[in-house]
Amino acid sequence: MRQERCEFCNGVIERITTRVPFHYKKEVIYVDHVPVRMCRKCGEVYYEAKVYKRLEEIAARRRTIKAKITFPLADYRLAQALGT
Ligand SMILES: [Zn+2]
Repeated sequence: MRQERCEFCNGVIERITTRVPFHYKKEVIYVDHVPVRMCRKCGEVYYEAKVYKRLEEIAARRRTIKAKITFPLADYRLAQALGT
């Protein structure tokens, strides 16, 4: 399989699960355990369309999620468990 390369610095891209800051309507929320592709060299993060859409859903429901975990940090897995 061909190694994926960063479109900005040509660094190697790896698939990881990490905490990401997600910008939504002028706010930033942090979501844990998000599956992304990240450039090893410059740190640029690439989202798959379905993951990005999921993050938007999480952001839209962030107040509910925050209330449940009483910490200003959403959890990608928790949001999935909560369902829609
Ligand atoms: Zn890069």
